[in-house]
Amino acid sequence: MSLSPVILLVVGDEHENSHALQHWLEHQGYVVQSEKDPTLAIDAISRRVADLVLLNGELSNERGLDICRFVKSNDALGFIPVIIMVAPESARIEPAFGAGADDVLIQPVRQGDMLTRINVLLRVKRHYDAIWQQNQALTYKLAKQNQELELALKAQNELSVLKDSIVRNVSHELRTPLLQVKSAVAMLAEDARAASVTGASVLADHARAATARLESVVQNITQLAAVLNIKTEPFRLADAVNLATRQLGRQWASSGGVDRIKVAVESAPLVIGDRGGVAQVLQQLLDNAIKFSPKGGSVEVTAERQGGSVCVTVRDYGIGIEEDQLGRIFQAFYQVDSSPTRSFGGTGVGLTIVKLLLDQMGISIHVESKPGAGSTFSFVLPISPLDISESLSKQSVDIPQ
Ligand code: ADP
Repeated sequence: MSLSPVILLVVGDEHENSHALQHWLEHQGYVVQSEKDPTLAIDAISRRVADLVLLNGELSNERGLDICRFVKSNDALGFIPVIIMVAPESARIEPAFGAGADDVLIQPVRQGDMLTRINVLLRVKRHYDAIWQQNQALTYKLAKQNQELELALKAQNELSVLKDSIVRNVSHELRTPLLQVKSAVAMLAEDARAASVTGASVLADHARAATARLESVVQNITQLAAVLNIKTEPFRLADAVNLATRQLGRQWASSGGVDRIKVAVESAPLVIGDRGGVAQVLQQLLDNAIKFSPKGGSVEVTAERQGGSVCVTVRDYGIGIEEDQLGRIFQAFYQVDSSPTRSFGGTGVGLTIVKLLLDQMGISIHVESKPGAGSTFSFVLPISPLDISESLSKQSVDIPQ
């Protein structure tokens, strides 16, 4: 709405009346445009000439009400108040409101009344216009923010796809050449030893240790790839333990470390989680348990039913962890002993991956440890409803008839 002047459009086919009304309104300080032809009136309204329309409802052929309907059904015009004036005893009062009129005045109208009605409706229009403008500004701001968010989301998605494909491909692309290097280094070490070339033998041992380190990095990346593929399904805990120990058998083939693992999970019920993910978790925890306990020290993996869940525990009797370190061992690249003289292999990300994997399944991990006495890592898996219904059906068979 223009601040000034306010333009009133008077539409009526009674020339005398309209003329007098126009004069009087102009005298009140309004700019008045007068129109006899309804089509031209609609045209003027469409061009947003009018701030308020004063309409003679007795216009011939219903066309007066058509003008009102046009104004009220056209959202793009915003709020243009329409006052319809009707003759006394007119049958047009109800149809005028029905057509959307904001006010209906019965002629002859007292001048003071008309002025009050016009001013009230113009005030409403001012409020409406102000709110409409705020709305426009907000809509624009929201649309802009939406666009920015969409762009950010797209970039984020692209980055995430890229990250996933790097993690998946790197582990795949690295494993094959690494295996070739590993066997070549083993052969070289063998040859050097057979030929009693001490220097070459020492170098080959260095190369072998470096290859082992590289192997554990690749293994970590492979485990990260597993984090990206977590799914939830019923599985037998024993299957996950078998997967883990089979993998560890390869890792600890030369030292027989895997023979130290005592497994007691056979009686565990069917659980819910990602079988591969749980296998990775167990593999990592068992690997640490073997690594951080003395040769010959036993390592246990057990499962204990606790209500509707199964608590899985990996226990060792090794070097243990100081209490103030317990909160830090899940941080990436953190190792309690990171000195160059450290005698254990590893990269310091194993437990980080364990936590990531379990987080993806909505499971938390718990650790208890005592220096010199050993460590216990545990996590809880929900029992599958399949197993519960199976055991219930078994119970029902046992009920004597
Ligand atoms: P790393 O590759 O060093 O094993 P992890 O993330 O698996 O990395 O473990 C982080 C650190 O936590 C280890 O370096 C070690 O200091 C400590 N740690 C983990 N498991 C054990 C354990 N069973 N006994 C003693 N210390 C452990």
